[in-house]
Amino acid sequence: MKVIQEIENGTSSGLDLLRDTSRDRLTLCFPGVGSAFARKNNPTCLIIAKGGQTILVDAGTSIPNALETRGIAITAFDYYHITHSHADHIGGLEELLLYSHYVLDKKPRMILTENYRDLLWERSLRGGCEHAVDGTLGFDDLAEFVLPSQVASEPRELYEVEVAGVKLTIFRTVHIPTGEDTTRSAFWSTGLLIDDRVLFTADTRFDPALFDQLPMDGVEVIFHDCQLYDPGVVHPTYTDLKTLDAGLRSKMHLTHYGDTFEEFDPASDGFAGFARPWAMYQ
Ligand SMILES: [Zn+2]
Ligand SMILES: [Zn+2]
Repeated sequence: MKVIQEIENGTSSGLDLLRDTSRDRLTLCFPGVGSAFARKNNPTCLIIAKGGQTILVDAGTSIPNALETRGIAITAFDYYHITHSHADHIGGLEELLLYSHYVLDKKPRMILTENYRDLLWERSLRGGCEHAVDGTLGFDDLAEFVLPSQVASEPRELYEVEVAGVKLTIFRTVHIPTGEDTTRSAFWSTGLLIDDRVLFTADTRFDPALFDQLPMDGVEVIFHDCQLYDPGVVHPTYTDLKTLDAGLRSKMHLTHYGDTFEEFDPASDGFAGFARPWAMYQ
C-alpha cells in the first residue's frame, strides 16, 4: 500500500473524498496514529473505505474533534467497529450514540461480536446513555448491530463478517495479559485482518505468535501498535518489534506511537515507517 494523497486540514468534506477515492479499491486512512497519552497526534483510529462505503474503526475521546478538522461528522460513517474499551478507542462513542438518537433520529450500524456488544454496553456506555426523560434505553434503542460469526476458538478466537464489500476477520489480541500467562487475557481486545490483505493490530502486547496463527500469505501491509519506550507491558516496544524478521518489518507501519517519534528513524531499522495521520493508503 502506498500513500496516494493526504486529506488536508480544513478540507470541507473529507469523507466524500474518501468515498470517491475508494470507488474502485480499498482505501485506508488514519485520523489518529497516537498512543493513549499522545498530544501531538490523536489516538489511533482507522477509516476503511471501499466501493464508496466507509467503516470507522475506534473513536477515542478526541476523535469527533479530529474528524471535524476534515469536515467529517462522527455520525457520517456507514459502519463502526470497536476494538476494545479503553477511552482512546471508545471515548467518542457516547457522542455518536446520543447525537444520532436525539438529534438525527438514526441508529449507527455497529460491527461487534455478540459478547463484546454486551460488555461494551454494560461496562462502559450504559452509565451515560441509559437514562432518558421518558424511561430507559437499551443499546439496541441506540444502535443497529452487525454480528460477525465465530470461525475459530483455538489457538486464537477468530470472527468473520463481510460488510460494505470488505471482508473483516476479527482476531483476539492479548493487550492486557492476565497474570503470568501471556497468551491469554480476561480483557476483551481485538485486531483486524482486512480483505486478507491488511493486518491492523489495534492494541496488543508483543505477541509474535500472532504471525503464525493468522493467514499471513496474502498480507501486504501491517499496521502495528508500537510503544517508543521500554519496557513494554501492554504494547510492544520499538525494541521488541525490531527483533521480528526483516520480511515482517518491511511491511510494518507503526501506529499508536507517542510524542517522541521524531527521535526515531523506522526506515533505518527496516520498518515501512510511522503511519501518517490523514494519509490515504491504497
Ligand atoms: Zn490504545
Ligand atoms: Zn488499549
